[in-house]
Parts: sequence; C-alpha cells; structure tokens
Amino acid sequence: MKEKKKLSLAAQIFIALVLAIVAGLLMQKHADFAETYIKPFGTIFLNLLKFIVVPIVLFSIMCGIISMKDIKKVGSIGAKTVIYYMCTTAFAITFGLIGANVFKGAFPKIATTDLSYEADQTISLMDTIVNIFPSNFLSPMVEANMLQVIVIALILGFGIILLGEGERNVRIVTACNDLNDIFMKCMEMILKLSPIGVFCLLSPVIAANGPAIIGSLAMVLLAAYVCYIIHAVVVYSLAVKALGGMSPVKFFKGMLPAIMFAFSSSSSVGTLPINMECVEKMGASKEVSSFVLPLGATINMDGTAIYQGVCAIFIASCYGIHLTFAQMLTMILTATLASIGTAGVPGAGMVMLAMVLTSVGLPVDGIALVAGVDRIFDMGRTVVNITGDASCCMIVSNLERKREVKKELRNGL
Ligand code: ASP
Repeated sequence: MKEKKKLSLAAQIFIALVLAIVAGLLMQKHADFAETYIKPFGTIFLNLLKFIVVPIVLFSIMCGIISMKDIKKVGSIGAKTVIYYMCTTAFAITFGLIGANVFKGAFPKIATTDLSYEADQTISLMDTIVNIFPSNFLSPMVEANMLQVIVIALILGFGIILLGEGERNVRIVTACNDLNDIFMKCMEMILKLSPIGVFCLLSPVIAANGPAIIGSLAMVLLAAYVCYIIHAVVVYSLAVKALGGMSPVKFFKGMLPAIMFAFSSSSSVGTLPINMECVEKMGASKEVSSFVLPLGATINMDGTAIYQGVCAIFIASCYGIHLTFAQMLTMILTATLASIGTAGVPGAGMVMLAMVLTSVGLPVDGIALVAGVDRIFDMGRTVVNITGDASCCMIVSNLERKREVKKELRNGL
C-alpha cells in the first residue's frame, strides 16, 4: 500500500493559524463561547509547555556542560555566548526605539481613560542580581524561576565534571543524557498538540477583538515587524558572516523549519528541538548547541526587546508623554536585563513589558492597549528570538573550532 505523505508539523500549525483567524472572525458574535469553551484548550497546551520548560532547560544545559568535560571550556563558551546575547539585545531594543520613533507620526491615538492592567510587582536591579542565586534546591523548579534553574544546571554540571572520568561519572553522564532524551521526546509529544493549541489560543482573541483592533493597531504592528526584519537581516547576517564564517543566505535557508515553527507556535523553548536540528545540520557542534540554544531560549530575546521598544513608544504617545533620551537609555538597559529571566513561552514578553514601562515611569495600564493583539506581535518576536540564538550558536561553534585548531597547532609545534 502506498504510504500517505504527512503534513509537516509547521505546515499543520500554519493551517491552524489561518483557520483560527477565519473561525475567530465567524465567532465575533459569540466571543463568550470562544472564551469559555475554546480558550481553555489553549490554556492546557500552554500549561503543558510551561510544565516541560524546567526539565528541558535543566537537563539540556547540564548535558551541554558535561559534554564539554572542561570547566574552562564552559567558561569560554559561556562568556562568548552571554556577551553576544547582551550586545544583540541592546541593539534590538535600540532598533525598536528608533523604528517606533520613525513610525510614531502614523501611530493611532487611542483613549487611555479606563484602561487597567495588573502588573506583577517589580523589583530593583540589585534584588534581581541576588535572586539569580537559589537558596533552595527545589523551589526554583517549582516556581519555574529560569535563571535559578540555569544556575542549578551549571553547578550540577560542574560537579559532574569534577567527579573525574571514573565509572561513577559514566553512570551519571549516561543517566543525564537519557533523561534529556526522555524530556525531549515528551516535548515532541506536547508539540504534536500545537496545531490545536494555536487554534484554541488565537481564535478567541480574534473573536473578542475582531479585525477592528488589528486594524487600529496596524501601524504599530507594522513598525514592530519592520524592525524585526531589519534586525534579523542586518544584525544576524553581518554577525554570521563576520564571526561565523558562513553565508547569511545559507544560514536563513537552513533556519527555515525552525523559523516557521517559531512563528506558528510563539515559543522559543518549544522550538528548541527543531532549532537544534537546524544548527547541527548547518555544521554547529552538538556540545555548543546543547549549551547555547537552551540558554538562549531563556535569556536571549531580541525580538521581545524590539517589541518592548515599539510598544513603549506607542503607549507613551497615547498618554501624550514625550520620552527623553535618558529615559530611552534606561529602557535599553532594563529591556536587556528584562529579557534574561523569563523563559520563551507564548506571552512572556508582555509580562516583561511591565518592567520596562515601570523603569521610566510609564503607566503599566497602557499594556491593555496592545494586549489584544499580543499574539500577533509574539509570532514575529519569537522568530527573531530563536534566530538570534541560532546565529550565536553558529558563531560560537566556529570560534571554538578555530580555537581548537590553534591549540592543536601549538601543541604540534
Ligand atoms: N514568545 C516569546 C518566545 O518564546 C517570548 C515573548 O513572549 O516575547 O521567545
């Protein structure tokens, strides 16, 4: 019998996306129905993604570290990775602010009376630094505090390396790798639900807000997407070419499956397995990708930074507030730091936007202005987020390879 050709997951999600828009438009008169009976299934999908984030990040970073077998090497790769992530994120928010200022004249003026948005409590910079370090082994995992989970992964990974290459070490390394494989398989299972998840998350938003809200925010969405594209094309192409020794065209072509998946799923962490496959096919080493990508899915969010810049300017203009240069600098710093502590799941960026707005005294209630179309912002920003992670992976892999060659030459002499 001839085997039926199955549609790829990314294609399925894309179809779900289109169906969600159509169904959402048809259900506009029954928005309550969509909210009560369709959205909960989307929430189930989101919950499952959030559930798997912690073990995935913990074990993939641990396995990445263990495979390097050398703390100095982890340090060298870690430093390059963090510097690249920070610099590109600072660039991204700057792009977002510049782009939004260019588009500002075309932004709609939406009334800001009776807006309300409940933000989480914001904390000071020093507290943020102190909070990176866990005081308890389990609570970071229970609370999904991703930075603390990364610190745990680092400490455990180093511990295993320091055990030395004995029999015990082999057992632990095998166990970690096996657990990592198991969680990756679980993630694949959850991702199979993403077409349903995407449909159930998006259609209620469209049903409740209709094309009107998208229409009124069209210029803001356009500003964000223009900045997303410019940042991805200019910054990553240049970086990949100059530091990764690779053709940007080849890079973007190789990234296409991950890009499509990120666009439709809006989750960097969910895209992790596909992203790993893409970079490895393009020649990145596994030890680098299994450390750099999960780290990036948690701490590197260039698309999110752009979105925050654009939304901050839009919200300020709706409230008639003019942002000074100093305020924009503060925003660059805050957005760069804000992008660190939240894992890449749908909607995470909107929560972080509250922190950025508060840093310059903008009303957090303004988030209500953009909340309705957050999903549409999110699809684009997730693409930028994962492409940034992959570009870093290609670069670090290339730099490490060069370093190894140099070392071998030196030893050979
Ligand atoms: N959805 C984004 C991601 O997964 C995070 C965000 O909401 O900005 O990377």
